[in-house]
Amino acid sequence: MKPAILLPWLVPALTLVSGCSAPDSPASKKTTATATPGSARPVHWAYEGEASPKHWGHLSPAYAACDHKAGQSPINITQAGAGSPSPIQLNYTSTSLRIAHHEHVIDIVDNGHTIQVTVDEGSTLTTTKDSYLLKQFHFHTPSEHTIDGRHYPMEVHFVHQSAAGNFAVASALFVEGPANDNLAKLIAHFPKAKGDSLHLPDEKLDLAVHLPANAPAYSYVGSFTTPPCTENVEWFVFRDPITASPDQLKAFADRLHHNNRPVQSTAGRPVSSATVAGSTQP
Ligand SMILES: [Zn+2]
Repeated sequence: MKPAILLPWLVPALTLVSGCSAPDSPASKKTTATATPGSARPVHWAYEGEASPKHWGHLSPAYAACDHKAGQSPINITQAGAGSPSPIQLNYTSTSLRIAHHEHVIDIVDNGHTIQVTVDEGSTLTTTKDSYLLKQFHFHTPSEHTIDGRHYPMEVHFVHQSAAGNFAVASALFVEGPANDNLAKLIAHFPKAKGDSLHLPDEKLDLAVHLPANAPAYSYVGSFTTPPCTENVEWFVFRDPITASPDQLKAFADRLHHNNRPVQSTAGRPVSSATVAGSTQP
């Protein structure tokens, strides 16, 4: 079995990374060994044990931002500050299904340890400042962000990148309720094991149905929640959760176990409000 990194459809994304996140040579093999800083293989990290979140910042110089006392994600959100909400527009289209269970760091956001769907080009997030292309989405169980100290059973992160290389993440929290059609498709096609991936061109996901319409959201500036904990990421966390059935939430939790980074200090960072409008293009 080849590592997912070798799939041709990941190559354009991989050209965006630099430094220690550079892609492997085709001959390299999957490994859990720690690499020398600066080598092609990103240093292994985990959610438990000696490479757990509290150690991320000193596993590699490339992960130093993980130790920063401000500017990191996730955070506990209490309430948005005063002021008129900033308008955000999501134009999400449908995508074919490219799904992977990543054990290792293989793409632009260093997103190991999750079920990730890499999307077809064409979905965008537009803020008052910039426009971003949706690259992929992935899941955490339980949620990484907390609202008033409360975790939710699952959180989905939609990761976007601007032409200038800046990142924005839209996040939705899940509660138990009616089943979610897209999650059903993902669960039906879960990779058989960590490191596996598959592309099903005829299996379509309508991404807009993941998202509440005209949704109030919390916004703040944070980081990736996985090494290298890159900062200056625009976060939009939907205030109202979306639903998945208890069986669906269990299916994800059984696969992902606990892949949530503990909440980080806000260190005085303001949390603002945003209003997200969504649409699906034909
Ligand atoms: Zn994430």
